[in-house]
Amino acid sequence: MNANASDPRLYPEGLYVHLPFCEALCTYCDFARELYSSDRPNRYLAALERELDTKLRRLHPRGGAFAPRTLFVGGGTPSSLSLPQLDAFFDLLDRHVDRARLEEFTVECNPGSTDAAKLARLRARGVNRVSFGVQSFQPHLLQLLGRVHGAKHGAEAVARAREAGFENVSIDLMHGLPTQSLDDLKRDLDAALALETEHLSAYGLIHEAGTPLTQAVQRGQVARPGPEEEAAHYRLVMETLDSGGLPMYEISNYAKPGREAQHNLIYWRNEAYLGVGVSAAEYVAGARSVNRKDVNAYLEAVERGADPAASTETLTGAARAREALVLALRLREGVDLAAFAARWGFDVEAAFPELLATFTREGLLERAAGRLRITRQGLPVADGILSELV
Ligand code: SF4
Repeated sequence: MNANASDPRLYPEGLYVHLPFCEALCTYCDFARELYSSDRPNRYLAALERELDTKLRRLHPRGGAFAPRTLFVGGGTPSSLSLPQLDAFFDLLDRHVDRARLEEFTVECNPGSTDAAKLARLRARGVNRVSFGVQSFQPHLLQLLGRVHGAKHGAEAVARAREAGFENVSIDLMHGLPTQSLDDLKRDLDAALALETEHLSAYGLIHEAGTPLTQAVQRGQVARPGPEEEAAHYRLVMETLDSGGLPMYEISNYAKPGREAQHNLIYWRNEAYLGVGVSAAEYVAGARSVNRKDVNAYLEAVERGADPAASTETLTGAARAREALVLALRLREGVDLAAFAARWGFDVEAAFPELLATFTREGLLERAAGRLRITRQGLPVADGILSELV
């Protein structure tokens, strides 16, 4: 790694840590995860520390502290760790991460398993943002998704987080689910808004191959909503949250002004971040790599001193610029075309004259005040627009 510490876009400003343990395996899930068992995290934390140590030595060959602006602990379900295991994890971070510049420290939590003692411990160890995987407030949808928590747990978890002193709380919701009506979704959105969280992520279900839910759809046991229905769900999310005081700032993310997820903004602005743990992605000094997805394969690689990456790629020139464009267009602020050309040496309008003209004519893209962005009409089909620009 040749990270240039003087360029904030090349030097990692964020650290992502993946903890793959969950209390139950959800029916739609394709993430790197396994069922929690009390003895497994200790071995995993040892591997995590070894990987982090190796990466930080590479980043700072002559010594020096790693002081990121953001820390994000995802999974899996980080809150499935016991209190002593959480303490061991925070101790590990303290041995390697200087918090002098830290602005945002997020931990993903399951609403059903994050009790007051755990939330208090997270707060005491410096976590200042929690993100709850609520997904829905409807019992039949939680059951369909195989979530371990019940309908009332979302609101209870947010209330407990407030009692523990968290002033920055996010929840995840899902839409486009089999059997989910627009009324179901409206009820979920209203219930979410009533919690007055600072941030909300709303994800359309991705039907990953091989998951139990995808298999149930393939067997005809539950019906997958059609593209029109999925677009109607997306529009309802956008309209309800925008008018409910949580404006959209990214295709799937909504926040009170000033509460946008700082860690995720690093991704969308194509700036550098470190990643450790099974399946973790990182982007450092122009090289993008992704760790092995299988927990055992990850552990074995780290324990024998090998690189746990499954793939590494360094994009250059136009390919790198196109990737940056697609990431930036996810944001409602859009792309400042002059600043983009200055940073990437890439003239967006000259590169895609016909495509931009077509999308603009169809009302899917708009240009105003030197910025290019997806229109509200284009947002429900944003993935299709972006796939044409890669
Ligand atoms: S809690 Fe999250 S990571 Fe764990 S199985 Fe469910 S969706 Fe997957």
